[in-house]
Amino acid sequence: MHPLLIIFLIVLILSWLLERILDSLNSSRWGSSPPELVRELYNDADYLKAKSYDQTGKKFSLISDSFSLLVMLTLLLTGAFGELDMLVHSWYPDELTATLVFFGIIAICADLLQLPFDIYKTFVIEQKFGFNKKTPGLFISDRIKGYILGGLIGGSLIALFSLTYQLAGPSFWIYAWVTVAVLLLLTSMFYTTVLLPIFNKLSPLADGELKQSIVAYCTKTGFAIKNLMVMDGSKRSSKANAFFSGIGAQKKIVLFDTLIANHSIPELVAVLAHETGHYKLKHTLTGLFLSLIQTGLMFFIFSIFIQYPQFAEALGSNKPTLELGLLAFGILYGPVSMALSLATNFISRKHEYEADAYATKTYNGAALQEALKKLSVSNLSNPDPHPAYVFFYYSHPPLLHRLRAIEKVIQTA
Ligand SMILES: [Zn+2]
Repeated sequence: MHPLLIIFLIVLILSWLLERILDSLNSSRWGSSPPELVRELYNDADYLKAKSYDQTGKKFSLISDSFSLLVMLTLLLTGAFGELDMLVHSWYPDELTATLVFFGIIAICADLLQLPFDIYKTFVIEQKFGFNKKTPGLFISDRIKGYILGGLIGGSLIALFSLTYQLAGPSFWIYAWVTVAVLLLLTSMFYTTVLLPIFNKLSPLADGELKQSIVAYCTKTGFAIKNLMVMDGSKRSSKANAFFSGIGAQKKIVLFDTLIANHSIPELVAVLAHETGHYKLKHTLTGLFLSLIQTGLMFFIFSIFIQYPQFAEALGSNKPTLELGLLAFGILYGPVSMALSLATNFISRKHEYEADAYATKTYNGAALQEALKKLSVSNLSNPDPHPAYVFFYYSHPPLLHRLRAIEKVIQTA
């Protein structure tokens, strides 16, 4: 067996194992009734429902992750990727076409294997816990739109990579990085104006008491927001959310209709104040900057990788190509990407505390606490996750930590 192939297998198996360990640590946190700290939020029935939702999700990801792992191990051990690549190159001598066809075939096969799991998750699990609002028709049209967008975006990125690689040689990563950086910036600016409307309907918030309260808050804090939108999140799920997006004149705050339906006006303004905090404290810009750095680092590491023909050999081919380099890189970059996500999640959790503090100081901490409690209970979030699990996966601090931090800000104010 090729020594690099052994490393691929070890990386894949270890990351599968790590996920299982974290899942089981987190599962061990559930008792038969809510812990003292969350008793005021969850009644027994809510708590048991959240527990069952969490456990069902974990069982599901155990099965689907193990299945993906088995498929991947089989493909690697049989050298199928290398065989496929040589076959595609015998059909299409042109590098660019071969690369696109290779990834096209892999994407279609991966999606077909994933499809039954997605259907089960949406129409069995989410349905059972009362979240799913998708009709089969919407599920299919979402999927088709996803294919078209994915094909266009993924296809042009791969083409860009392939062309710059052929033209610029080893320094191609700088050109690819600059282009992707521009794309990232444009996406961030136009996400709510161009991408989101493909899937959802966004309408300006109607006049009324809510809008007046929001305008009053924005005037007080000197936050010029022209674009306050409501999104029809209810057509897919009953889960509620709000988010901020865009930079400069394109900035928008989006409230889900499901959020408006279940919260009082002070709670909604408090959520909006939290989102305003992200903008005022420059979290959006910091996030964008960090992802630019990450992308650059990734491209640079990849440019080193692609020079070694051994990766193609390990995948079962005798000819090093861009696509086999990318595939090998994709596997080995997993642990690096995980380490980077630890850092970005840490920063993101810090930002959440800061935005909560901002909302507490400029608006109303008690209303924010109420809103967070309601969101946590209705989304069946785990009230007391394991610290290791939070450290690895949580981009937002757990509810209890946020409530306590807000309490502190209220007391010192
Ligand atoms: Zn936030």
